[in-house]
Amino acid sequence: MSGPVLAIHGGCGVAPRGGLSDAQERHARGGLKGALRAGWAVLDKGGAALDAVEAAVVALEEHTAFNAGRGAVFNSDGKHEMDAAIMDGRDLSAGAVGGIARVRNPVRAARAVMERTDHVLLIGGGAEALAARAGLELVAPDWFSTEERRASLLQMKALQAKGDASRASERLKHGTVGAVAIDRAGHLAAATSTGGYTNKLPGRVGDTPLIGAGTYANDATLAYSGTGKGEIFIRSVLGHELHARMAYKGESLATACDAMVFGELKRLGGGAGLIAIGRDGAIALPFNTAGMYRGVASDSEGWVSIYDEREPL
Ligand code: ASP
Repeated sequence: MSGPVLAIHGGCGVAPRGGLSDAQERHARGGLKGALRAGWAVLDKGGAALDAVEAAVVALEEHTAFNAGRGAVFNSDGKHEMDAAIMDGRDLSAGAVGGIARVRNPVRAARAVMERTDHVLLIGGGAEALAARAGLELVAPDWFSTEERRASLLQMKALQAKGDASRASERLKHGTVGAVAIDRAGHLAAATSTGGYTNKLPGRVGDTPLIGAGTYANDATLAYSGTGKGEIFIRSVLGHELHARMAYKGESLATACDAMVFGELKRLGGGAGLIAIGRDGAIALPFNTAGMYRGVASDSEGWVSIYDEREPL
């Protein structure tokens, strides 16, 4: 065991290199650093991986650079419908929410499902009512809205009208945030939160809140959070596939993650990335898009990145 480790992502929905202004890059890196610090503060003082991933994801949800919480994308009706999940590798307990629009921090609603109900996944109004009963903050749906995401919706609709939706950049289409951690006791946890896809149909739920697809943690193998075209993560049940490759085939974390991101997911035709930590503290951060907002904190390293540079924490 290597000591605690935290990895985060802010999605692989990234503009091609040079497509972000310096100010946009700085804004995003600042958000990643804030989230790493929030999660690392928990791990460093001996706290649980579960609390660390929640703290990191809350910070990313609060930051407008990322498509989760404030800054979430719009669906085709011009509304926000957010998904989130959290999972504890100690006992496979998990909670998730789908299609919610009023809970300020969707990952906290996911944790409330895990801790206050016998269920794993609640959607829409039922999930929001539970969050309210749990004392979580509710906000008006437009609290999540930003001008940038509104412009992305208009651009997506214009491309769709021309039959050119497939030419939309990854950045225009999607994003997500997530965190994975191993704590001093060797326990693993994962959390993911997203606004989904720009211009998605109302009612569409992606991979993020589906345990075993977009989010998974199991002390026997790994903690994992995915980002990319949710439908291909669902169809390949990605998180559980990684677990199975490691548990039954004996693959290393890196071999399993690379095989899926550069093999299977590419073959299924979609931008994809993931962050994962193995039970030995190994880290994997592969992506097949132009970049992925990401960062790592441990006793020996601390950095954030968008493309292939590394900026110290
Ligand atoms: N996986 C998310 C979804 O499909 C989007 C993303 O990660 O960029 O909802």
